Amino acid sequence: MTTAHVGHLLDWLRDAYAMEQQAEVMLKDLVERLEHYPQLRAHMEDHLEDTRKQQVLLKGCIERLGSSPSMLKDLMGRVMAFGQSVSGMAVSDEVVKGAMSTYVFTHMEIASYTILIAAARAIGDNETQRVCESILQQEIAMAEWLRGHLPEVTQAFLARSATPGMNAKR
Ligand code: MG
Repeated sequence: MTTAHVGHLLDWLRDAYAMEQQAEVMLKDLVERLEHYPQLRAHMEDHLEDTRKQQVLLKGCIERLGSSPSMLKDLMGRVMAFGQSVSGMAVSDEVVKGAMSTYVFTHMEIASYTILIAAARAIGDNETQRVCESILQQEIAMAEWLRGHLPEVTQAFLARSATPGMNAKR
């Protein structure tokens, strides 16, 4: 274990913390806006709860390594730009775009935790490795649930769109 390795692990943990903050903003927004898709909304709500717990776990890892979460990481700006570009507020198929962007975002999270697990293992930080493995399982479960339900969401959206007087957007 070298100081440089710890530095990289800390950087990536702070990136992940910023990413989970952005995930919270995106999910909270979707949960508040979705009106006609209760199953999707309920699942987003569960993942929002997980996301808040993930932030606490990451903060614990960062603090055990003797640092604190940075709120001003460059990644935060990039992640926010990503979130805004796909948040779909102004589009008529908001529910479809929201589900799609959540699916894409979840895959960025899967990549991040896979990297963190490898870095924690390289350093011998067993607790960080364990925490990131448990979070990774939640992200994989979310991605799989979304992939399985994207067709259903699409069909529900199309059915509502084709029905006069029904709001399909969200
Ligand atoms: Mg997450």
